[in-house]
Amino acid sequence: MAYVVGEPCVDCKYGDCVTDCPVDCFYQGDTMLYINPDECIDCGQCLPLCPVEAIFVDDDGPPNPEAYVEHDADWYIEANRDFDYSDDKRVTEKEAVVHGPKWDESKA
Ligand code: SF4
Ligand code: SF4
Repeated sequence: MAYVVGEPCVDCKYGDCVTDCPVDCFYQGDTMLYINPDECIDCGQCLPLCPVEAIFVDDDGPPNPEAYVEHDADWYIEANRDFDYSDDKRVTEKEAVVHGPKWDESKA
């Protein structure tokens, strides 16, 4: 079982998810955030924090499969597994998340 960031985060990146992660295992890419599966302790605290339900458990699949247009959920599971988790991409504060073009202040 692994917690994964999926397609609703693409071009959005609200950043709420990073505020409560006890092990600071979120990392920032150009268009979305990723969860490092080697560091995540599967606590689930981030899951309800994302306003666009971008986070899901790989065994369960996303709660909003209709939002997966560009790639399917398996693609995002692999993307979270294979991301380059260098320390300079670690993001621990909401203010450090660079919002994408789909960021909507009314949901923040
Ligand atoms: S809270 Fe924001 S940054 Fe975190 S997964 Fe959701 S959309 Fe992405
Ligand atoms: S499940 Fe817990 S440890 Fe894993 S990313 Fe979410 S808050 Fe962090």
